[in-house]
Amino acid sequence: MNNLLDIQNIRKKFSILYDNNLIYFDNASTSLKPDIVIDKIKNYYSLYPANVHRSIYKIGLKASEEYENVRKKIKEFLNAESTKNIIFTSGTTESINLISHSWGLQNLNENDEILLTEMEHHSNIVPWQICSQKTGCKIRYIAINDQGELDLSNINELINEKTKLVSLIHQSNVLGTVNPIKEIIQIAKKQGAITLIDAAQTVPHLEVDVKEIDCDFLVFSGHKMVGPTGVGILYGKENILDGMQPFMSGGQMINEVNLHSVTFNELPLKFEAGTPNIAQVIGLGESIDFISKIGINKINEYERYLTEYALAKLRLNAKIALYANSKHQGSVISFNIQGINAYDLAEFLDQKNIAVRVGHHCAQPLMKVLGVPSTIRISFYLYNTIEEIDFLILSIEEAIKFFLDRA
Ligand code: PMP
Repeated sequence: MNNLLDIQNIRKKFSILYDNNLIYFDNASTSLKPDIVIDKIKNYYSLYPANVHRSIYKIGLKASEEYENVRKKIKEFLNAESTKNIIFTSGTTESINLISHSWGLQNLNENDEILLTEMEHHSNIVPWQICSQKTGCKIRYIAINDQGELDLSNINELINEKTKLVSLIHQSNVLGTVNPIKEIIQIAKKQGAITLIDAAQTVPHLEVDVKEIDCDFLVFSGHKMVGPTGVGILYGKENILDGMQPFMSGGQMINEVNLHSVTFNELPLKFEAGTPNIAQVIGLGESIDFISKIGINKINEYERYLTEYALAKLRLNAKIALYANSKHQGSVISFNIQGINAYDLAEFLDQKNIAVRVGHHCAQPLMKVLGVPSTIRISFYLYNTIEEIDFLILSIEEAIKFFLDRA
């Protein structure tokens, strides 16, 4: 038994979990949303649906205040230096694209190297490939060992005087491995390289303190942390953001526009052109409150308990191939079952109302390293239960009988 979280009370806050038998194990893709987040968005549209930063009438001021309050909440949540470090984007993908355009294109050339890892999500590979095509910079990768961890044996060679950027995933969205980012950032700093952390899989699940990590950039998405789609965060160090050109341009990101010249707004608005995703930002503020009230460390501890339980059960079956075996494991587990097509298994589980992810998880280079086209992925969040895992294990055993024993 575990009493880390008041699970029944938490589950009551998600109307999708009230009356149907949904077992939702696809949290690494996106999380469910509690009613208070949905209500907050509805309230914005019904009660004060004005634009931000420009209107002097009451509902306009209310919208601006709510929007900027969320920036303060994010600053606190990440322990950032100031609200100037917090830029609202549409998600992790846009945040990385912003950096690759506004920092990468400006600062990289053919003598430079950037370092990624073989376990990156496509959103931290493709923007750098496009940047490399335009600037001539070379991309190198940290390899993965048999445990599904980063192989750091040659890290002092991989990070050298040519390295201008080290950009890496905090926790793999496929393997669940949590990477030793602090150690890698320290090595990068000694060589004067900029560091970018893709924290899409960690900010929702564990305490992330940007001052302690001492990264230059950190990015994540609201929708994986019980928040709305369409809003994400780019944290950046002020001196670096200050030196960068805007990404998108137009309204709001300017100071003064003349027919043939323009000066830009101060941080953070310099990077927020046009009408932002106001409802989504305001909804995200409610998600942050929701998580903070429960406590991110408690959530993390509860997820560790669920993950260890699930791993122990899965390991009992010799037909199940697991793809990571790290001591630093988040609440994401990838596996396949010998002789069963992963898509067939996912469909079988869907018949039982168990939502799992199947595919390459936007990490095709990692799939090539693992030597498989796809995996089944289960990923937990604060509303999942041991009983749900038990039902999954039973269903997998039933699937094995169905697909293999009659073959
Ligand atoms: N990085 C990681 C590690 C992810 O898991 C994801 C989402 N699967 C992304 C980046 C992209 O996030 P988004 O689609 O919200 O931009």
